[in-house]
Parts: sequence; C-alpha cells; structure tokens
Amino acid sequence: MTLQETTVLHNGLKMPVFGLGVYKIPDEQQGVEAIVHAIKTGYRLIDTASLYDNEAAVGEAVRQSGVNREDIFVTSKVWNTDQGYEETLKAFEVSLEKLGFDYLDLYLIHWPMPKTDKFKETWRALEKLYQDKKVRAIGVSNFNINHLEDLKTTATILPMVNQVECHPHLNQQDLRAYCQAEGIKVQAWSPLKRGDLFELDTLTEIAKQHQKTVAQVILRWDYQHGILTIPKSVTPSRIEENANIFDFTLSETEMNQIDALHNGDRTGPDPEELNA
Ligand code: NDP
Repeated sequence: MTLQETTVLHNGLKMPVFGLGVYKIPDEQQGVEAIVHAIKTGYRLIDTASLYDNEAAVGEAVRQSGVNREDIFVTSKVWNTDQGYEETLKAFEVSLEKLGFDYLDLYLIHWPMPKTDKFKETWRALEKLYQDKKVRAIGVSNFNINHLEDLKTTATILPMVNQVECHPHLNQQDLRAYCQAEGIKVQAWSPLKRGDLFELDTLTEIAKQHQKTVAQVILRWDYQHGILTIPKSVTPSRIEENANIFDFTLSETEMNQIDALHNGDRTGPDPEELNA
C-alpha cells in the first residue's frame, strides 16, 4: 500500500485513492509551492475547481513538478453559475485553458442545485466532453441518493465519482452503500472537517495507541472504508504527515468507534439547500 495506490473506475480508468485538495489557496505562488511539494512527496491527485480560482497554479505546479502530466490525476468542477449544456461546455474550455492542459482527468458537477433543475443538462455536456475524449472520467459532487436517481432517468453514462462532505461526524453510510452498489466511487471532501475533530477524545486516544496524529487516524479510516480522500494543506510538514498513513491498521473495534462519532454535523452547505 502506498500513496500512489489507485482504484479502478467503472470505465476502467485508474484513479489515485489519495490526493491533495486545494480549496482556499488563492495565492498563486503559495499554491504552486504546496502542490509541487505534494507531488514530490508522492501525491498523484490534485483536486481543484473553477471556484477555487487556482487552476492556473495547479497547471503550473504540475509542469514544475518534474512528473509527467499523464502520471498526475487532476480533477476540476463546473461551478453553479455555469450549469446548463452550452454554459458547461464553455466553462470546461476556460478551466482547461487556465490549467494549460489539453485534457482533464476528472470533471465534476460541483453542486446539484436541485431547485434550478439544470444538472441533467449539465450532465449531458459532461457526457459530450467524455465522448470527445477531453476528459477521462466524469462525475458529480454533493449529490444525494435522490439526485443520483433523478440523474439516472436521462443519463447515458453513470457518474464514475461522487465527491461529498464526509468525515467521522458525517460518515455518509447510506450514500456510500448506494454508490457502491451503483459502481460509483465516493470521495471525501473536508475529510478533516477543517480541523474541527482534532480534540475528540475517541480520536486522540486511538491516535495515541498508534503513535499517529488524529489527522492520520481519520485519513486511515477513510482508506480502510474505501473512501477516496483529498485533505487540503499548504503546510509542507502536514502535506507529508497526511500522506503517512500506509504503515498502520485500525482494528475493527477502532473503526466501529470512529463510525459511532457520526452526528450528522456538516461544515459546508446541505446539498438540498444550496441553489445558487
Ligand atoms: P480539510 O478537512 O481538508 O481541512 C483543511 C484544513 O485543515 C486546513 O486549514 C489545513 O491547514 C488543516 N490541516 C490539514 N492537515 C492538517 C494536519 N495534519 N494537522 C492539522 N491541521 C491540518 O478541508 P477542505 O475543506 O479544504 O477539504 C479538502 C478539499 O476538498 C478541498 O481543499 C477541496 O479540494 C475539496 N472540497 C470540495 C468541496 C465540494 O463541494 N466538492 C467543498 C469543500 C472542499 P493548512 O492548509 O494551513 O495546513
């Protein structure tokens, strides 16, 4: 098991199980340095979005890293105000241009925005981009089961990935079971709940037992559950720390103890309620 371990998406594409999130890194130089450091540490997946305003830094870092473009998996996302068929095709070209790439590895619908009722048209654009080989895999983000069921009524290709808020307080058990049955990989955003879990006794105790940090315990819990994960950090020592989870195993009891921390608490919006 290493940082470069991959999972196979339902179209056969290999995708790293672990990566770096880059939300809230607006400073281009800081972004480039953090991403280059991550790639040198062994990270092979970078998660950006047009919203994050750092696609140019991601592209620059990939070029500076010394690792071939084909060996790095880059995800971006279509933002809410660009939903719709033509709008999405245009937004994709803007993202690609900013990245300075000629293809993307994974393109996601950032939020379903159910009340605007545009995600099926948006999905049709993602299918077109996939068929035109501009993107190697397509997926969604923040989709609940009902949104996925709705999408299935018109989709000709099922999403390969669903990236959702997921951490010990919001473990997405039902959605994960549904996605597993449908062949959709689940990827966790805010896996560390943005630092909000670091003082929990259950986690600090387990961390102590393994001589690991709470962040490492949470990311290992993701890994053992088969949840793809993308912790964000701009701090070199944390970028390394977060990746150092392949030399210990949580017992079944410890996994159950962490599962039991679920209380439904979110750090981001509820996908049913975000509609603009
Ligand atoms: P995370 O749960 O990854 O937490 C990031 C925060 O934790 C940062 O403040 C970081 O600080 C800190 N941190 C990271 N590692 C450690 C550590 N080992 N010890 C202590 N503190 C640490 O939150 P994010 O919201 O950033 O989620 C991760 C990624 O998920 C995003 O960057 C983005 O790519 C994606 N995302 C997707 C969303 C979607 O709607 N699809 C929504 C939100 C996020 P520092 O950087 O200062 O080191």
